[in-house]
Amino acid sequence: MRVNKIFVYDTTLRDGVQTAEGNLNWKQKLKFARFLGKNRQADVIECGFPAAHGQDFKAVKKISESCALEKWPVVISAISRCKLEDVEKTVAALEPAISSGRGRIYLFIAGSTTKKDKTLGLNIKSAKKQIVESIKYAKELYPGLQIQYCAVDAVRLNWKYLLLTVLAAESAGAKIITLADSPGFALPLEYYSLVKRVKEKVRDRTILSVHTHNDLGLAVANTILGIQAGAKQAEVTVAGIGERAGNAQKEAVIASLLSRRDYFHKKINFQSENALLAVEALKKIIKYNPLSLHTPVVGEWVSKHASGIHQDWMKKDPFSFQVVNFEQWGKRTDFPLTINSSLGCFIKTLKSFGIKKSDNDIFQAFKKYKKSNGGNNVITEEFLEKLFD
Ligand SMILES: [Zn+2]
Repeated sequence: MRVNKIFVYDTTLRDGVQTAEGNLNWKQKLKFARFLGKNRQADVIECGFPAAHGQDFKAVKKISESCALEKWPVVISAISRCKLEDVEKTVAALEPAISSGRGRIYLFIAGSTTKKDKTLGLNIKSAKKQIVESIKYAKELYPGLQIQYCAVDAVRLNWKYLLLTVLAAESAGAKIITLADSPGFALPLEYYSLVKRVKEKVRDRTILSVHTHNDLGLAVANTILGIQAGAKQAEVTVAGIGERAGNAQKEAVIASLLSRRDYFHKKINFQSENALLAVEALKKIIKYNPLSLHTPVVGEWVSKHASGIHQDWMKKDPFSFQVVNFEQWGKRTDFPLTINSSLGCFIKTLKSFGIKKSDNDIFQAFKKYKKSNGGNNVITEEFLEKLFD
């Protein structure tokens, strides 16, 4: 069986923090990048837009310096428009990472020709010219620089425009090409078809990368379908933060590939035990909680089995109602006592509080519990003791 590696491109510090509360300074970015870099949380860390403002220039510079000095086993990436002055600034910020063979520029073109309108329109000729000039200039400045080109809003682009600009980027020296569903418009099979169609043109010369948004709740599904169509890099964010409804959630994408290794046969260089710590580290710098209790893989309740039948089955077969191996993610499978729980769970909960009673008393108390309001789901020692009154 052929097993292919999927590269994890973490864009939490660039696309991810493009939120209503996403202003991070360079120190905050450096702290989080260091965590990602040192704890095998990505193959590539995208850290900002150096030509956009001084804070990001400094962030990318400091992160590049630390990556080179401390030898983080990752590549540092920064976004840049296909403009020579932007390229120059981006490369200057990335310089320490590039010198140590770990620098990448992520080029995109501001303007496109979509199927529906041409209000952002660039003609193919001028777009190709800008792309080729920028890539050649970047290579001239630093031959060791890795070059990635991103086709923004790729799903809605005019096919001819998309293909010719992608091929121009490829022949100018871009080794990685992103097909971005920037507005979160694509449906899974539609995105699959697009990635496959481009893959047939670039074959194995170039790594295709997927970048999806969650406006329709499809970001993870689209990323997975893109990988199935032949993409080898996934652009994701911690906890799925990002513009509007966010980006593809990194933990969910990776858990899908790991849990269904039997189906995907993909290899990933990722330390899942540290993923929860990454979420905690992120929460500290963004100052809001991006998780719901049900957020896949890292939400507080996703490893808790509440109903009696589920609890019973889980004891007989740990995979009966759980596809994620939570031990690999630093989480514990839990069986909280709820109004739907079985007598076994009730006894276990009494034991956890150190409450010792006769079998008959326990059985009577359990019957009383089943008739109660379930303690409003907050089970305390006091609540349990009262059941024995
Ligand atoms: Zn995006």
